[in-house]
Amino acid sequence: MKMKFQISILTGLVAAGMLAGCSKNPVTGKKEIIFMSKEKEIALGAESHPSIVATMGIYGDKNLQSFISEKGMAMAKISHRPDLPYQFFIVDSPVVNAFAVPGGYVYFTRGIMAHFNNEAEFAGVLGHEIGHITARHSARQQTSQIFGQVGLLAGMVLSETVRGLAEQTQQALGLLLLSYSREHETESDKIGVDYSSKIGYDAHQMADFFGTLKKISEKSGQTIPTFQSTHPDPGDRQNKVNKLATQYQTAHPAKYNVNRDAYLRKIDGIIYGTDPKQGFVENNQFYHPELKFQFPVPSGWQYENSPAQFQMAAKDGKSMMLFALAEGKSLEEAAQTIVKNYSLQVLENDKTTINGNQAIVMVSKQVAQSQNGQAQAQPAENTLQVATWLIQYGGNIYAIHGVAAMPNFAGNLGQFKSVAQGFKSVSDPNILNRQPERIRIKTVQRDGTLKDALKDSNQPDNKLDELAIINGMALSDKVTKGMLVKTLGK
Ligand SMILES: [Zn+2]
Repeated sequence: MKMKFQISILTGLVAAGMLAGCSKNPVTGKKEIIFMSKEKEIALGAESHPSIVATMGIYGDKNLQSFISEKGMAMAKISHRPDLPYQFFIVDSPVVNAFAVPGGYVYFTRGIMAHFNNEAEFAGVLGHEIGHITARHSARQQTSQIFGQVGLLAGMVLSETVRGLAEQTQQALGLLLLSYSREHETESDKIGVDYSSKIGYDAHQMADFFGTLKKISEKSGQTIPTFQSTHPDPGDRQNKVNKLATQYQTAHPAKYNVNRDAYLRKIDGIIYGTDPKQGFVENNQFYHPELKFQFPVPSGWQYENSPAQFQMAAKDGKSMMLFALAEGKSLEEAAQTIVKNYSLQVLENDKTTINGNQAIVMVSKQVAQSQNGQAQAQPAENTLQVATWLIQYGGNIYAIHGVAAMPNFAGNLGQFKSVAQGFKSVSDPNILNRQPERIRIKTVQRDGTLKDALKDSNQPDNKLDELAIINGMALSDKVTKGMLVKTLGK
């Protein structure tokens, strides 16, 4: 399967190569060889979008959505490529990130929306992301990075195990993880200054947001992914962007807006951090309050929860487990679908019950297939062995897979079993009714410091440092009566 996937990427590369031509870059004006036509760019965006939505979900806030679409379209109009079918989305992820996919798809996480402190900061990042699209960074990137991307995908056990949605997801993530070069980032920062200034915002605020990013990354343990890791040092960018903003405003004197209060009122109530409704891990258990089940997470394992699946892996990377909804009306049908979709050869198949729920347990190995669909012999260390538990519960059928290469499988089976056999219902109201934290905008009651204002709003001491970052301030910064600040509440 791994082989099949690589081949499809290489085929894609050849197809892209056939469309390659020489054309003028809309931003730099330089002639360059590009490997992607405009149609191909749009098709790529349209292809990736469903997997991005499946992986992260869309954050359903109509007011905030219409705000970003309105600003996005205004900026698209003054950009170097106003003719693309731009679309703007807020994805339901706590991570602080924004990203763009060729063809005009731009995404902000609810995590980054919660961290902006005014419209101008948002506009700067919007300009930066639109800049990646208009300067065709992804298209240019494709030529130099495609082999790295193949390596990245091949390194993920998951993509070899579960096809369909998971495969699409990997393709989408492959795109997201494509790191732009520093040169491209610097170019996009400059475009961000130009575009956000052109629609009337003060780009010095964009520089300030790099200060916030720097603080988030310094506070380790916080989810701070691609936006940070693939981008140049935020401190450095902050200085450069500040200079560019001053240059722009000197050359084009006008009133440049910040719109702090207007922005803060728009994000009042936005969910902050993980949303327990989508499942959460606590005391080595994964809980899903909406679907009312739980199962153990082996201690020390790393995990990732998304709307489509929960995956976890041992630190040594030699075994992983995946939990997802199974397709089929009965356990037997679900088992057949899995065997077919994942090209499995079943070695054992038994009926059982798990904590009172009907279940099927299967042990199988994955059959490697060549491009023409023929089964292929391959060495044991490259063959994946899979233990699958299908469990009927609450009107759904769930699949738990434990996966390891054949030589490591027996040694991990005990761990896989204890996870699957720990699947059970949840009735604890403390788990079922768990509410997410939200940003609550409060009006400062008296002149003082940010710390005073947060304490006046009954914010706990252990959250003060985090709240300072969310507010884009230091705790000792002065605030005045009537000012708005972000606090956290249920
Ligand atoms: Zn970037």
